[in-house]
Amino acid sequence: MIPVLNLPVASKKKPWQIELSKAQISLKELLYFCELPMQDSLLEHSDFIIKATPNYLNCIVKGNINDPLLLQILPFKSENDLIEGYSNDPLLEKSQNPQAAIVHKYQNRILVVATGSCAIHCRYCFRRHFPYEENKHSKQQWIQTVDYLNKHQEVNEIIFSGGDPLSLSDASLKMMINDLEKIPTIKTIRFHSRIPVVLPSRIDADFESIFKQSTKHLVMVIHSNHANELNTEVKLACKTLKSNGFTLLNQSVILKNINNHADILAKLSERLFDCGVMPYYLHLLDQVHGSEHFSLPLNEVTLIYEQLQAKLSGYLVPKLAKEEPNHSNKTLIV
Ligand code: SF4
Repeated sequence: MIPVLNLPVASKKKPWQIELSKAQISLKELLYFCELPMQDSLLEHSDFIIKATPNYLNCIVKGNINDPLLLQILPFKSENDLIEGYSNDPLLEKSQNPQAAIVHKYQNRILVVATGSCAIHCRYCFRRHFPYEENKHSKQQWIQTVDYLNKHQEVNEIIFSGGDPLSLSDASLKMMINDLEKIPTIKTIRFHSRIPVVLPSRIDADFESIFKQSTKHLVMVIHSNHANELNTEVKLACKTLKSNGFTLLNQSVILKNINNHADILAKLSERLFDCGVMPYYLHLLDQVHGSEHFSLPLNEVTLIYEQLQAKLSGYLVPKLAKEEPNHSNKTLIV
């Protein structure tokens, strides 16, 4: 079990926190918002509840059940089918956490599961069955994480993941960043977050102020799968991050009926570049239970990737990769 940091939250809600608090919606509300009727194939109740921010919902084209943004959050009954090769922990992360909230899979960097909270629930998420609720973490355990970093001097990079680490309060982020500033062996602080894409209002003046004095390399790996997600607000948030010293990268997952076409992926790379973000990885789907309807045969993916390479300048082509359990690095496909 990998516990989660459950750090203090600010008492007075900020605009982004109010928006975040509206992210949990029912299937009926989602369909009503998207001007769609109920369908037999949809799953009304799931432990992995529906979540999407108003900003994300506003990017969905109304009246289209096949909208690529809608399909990423729409629960289907088929998610409950047991499919061979699919499991609740496809990357066997539970076997790689040496202590609370830490995954130490790669030699020079550790991943901190900072929170179980996300601003959106992506139906293909490989941590969709992760037992966050059973594994509440505390400030005391963050202190143990700092202790771990002090003892493991080979670690020069910390990766905040989740859940979504940017869903933490400013107070929590500030405390952690301040602590990391005191560890000379840590050179890079990296965040993996979908929030700049789905909740761009999170990147406000208070967020900026946390990183103003940082002496570390700052990296933000955002997660966008389709150009339609990248509206004007997202572009502004990315520009703000960049002006505060963040290196901006994007990782996507190649998903059936969402972005499995070279034209769609090329448009995504171009739009990312327009937002100041470099395409980094295009991941194969992790075979997590409930996500089989997003899967694609490998030969189709490699064909799309070849076509993508022909359409883009090399620096705009993300690396095609997959995560494998117990591997010390990602496996490049081509
Ligand atoms: S961890 Fe990332 S991919 Fe998974 S549900 Fe949250 S935002 Fe989506």
